[in-house]
Amino acid sequence: MVPAVYYNGRSSHATRVLAWRDEALLRWRVAEGADEWKVPLTEVEPSARVAGLAFMLRLPDGAHLQVEHDLLPADWFPRHHRIERVVDWLERRWMAALASVVVVVVSLLALFEFGLPWAADRIATHMPRAVETSMGRQSLKALQGSLLKPTTLSAERRVHLQDIFRRFASHLPNLPQVQLAFYDAPAIGANAFALPDGTVVFTDALAGAVPDDDAFIAVVAHELGHQAGHHMLRQVLRSSGVFIVASVLMGDVTSMGGVAAGVPAFLIDSHYSRTFEESADAFAFESLARQGIDPAAFVHAMQALERTHPELKGEKDLRYMSSHPLTEDRIARANAASQRFRATHKVTSSH
Ligand SMILES: [Zn+2]
Repeated sequence: MVPAVYYNGRSSHATRVLAWRDEALLRWRVAEGADEWKVPLTEVEPSARVAGLAFMLRLPDGAHLQVEHDLLPADWFPRHHRIERVVDWLERRWMAALASVVVVVVSLLALFEFGLPWAADRIATHMPRAVETSMGRQSLKALQGSLLKPTTLSAERRVHLQDIFRRFASHLPNLPQVQLAFYDAPAIGANAFALPDGTVVFTDALAGAVPDDDAFIAVVAHELGHQAGHHMLRQVLRSSGVFIVASVLMGDVTSMGGVAAGVPAFLIDSHYSRTFEESADAFAFESLARQGIDPAAFVHAMQALERTHPELKGEKDLRYMSSHPLTEDRIARANAASQRFRATHKVTSSH
């Protein structure tokens, strides 16, 4: 006989009983009294085995018998789900408990590694145009207060470069409104970047270092590639953590300020992912070729920057080079695009 508690299923009243097995019957009686009941064991539904929890034996009329975990005799329900025995066995072992902690941690890491970039990309590419514009403006304002100072380029030089920029950008399809802005930015050296609202920022140092107009427009083309792919927004969202991503996802506009604040941080100590670089390159190579400029111009521009400005070797001074590392892959792709360009160019010019 084992001590048990009887619940009639209609009230929370608990009755202390003693239960025992009698052949194919489950019997129980009030601990101090003569009342006795019985049901066939086959009509009793035992709850799952969970370490530390009492068993609930469900009776056919909706009542329950509660038996302490360790007190249920094994021969009452010998065919009780085998899987539950496995679960019970597992739960009793700390190695298994530890393993499940590891599984949870790995799942969380996977969420951060893959789930977060996925969510960031979804947000960035489905962001309403107006929100992106306002985020770009906020970012620019934040930068103007810190990293970006008024340009020192001559008006003549600015007008000339703006002219080339406008002509190039006006021929690009599927690009939202873009504009070019010059700033003196000693903290980020020779640099260029595209903000979410379509502003391409060019620092005075980089404008002074590009060897010619083609090199200038090649850098612009690459940056417009980042712009077309929403790369700045995606990268900043990716690195801004799960809370900002979640709140932007839920439409909390105040978090946009957090995104705007992430842009200066990105400019100072991060760079675009390799995939983003390749995609911006592809955009640049194609748009340059379409406007009659050899796609190799971007790589040549970068190489020329490095060669002709040894004084800009510092990490900060040639930030554009360090945030856009020229890998062999990128150079090979540029050369391939250049070969295709020259082949077509020869054909068209012979006519
Ligand atoms: Zn880039």
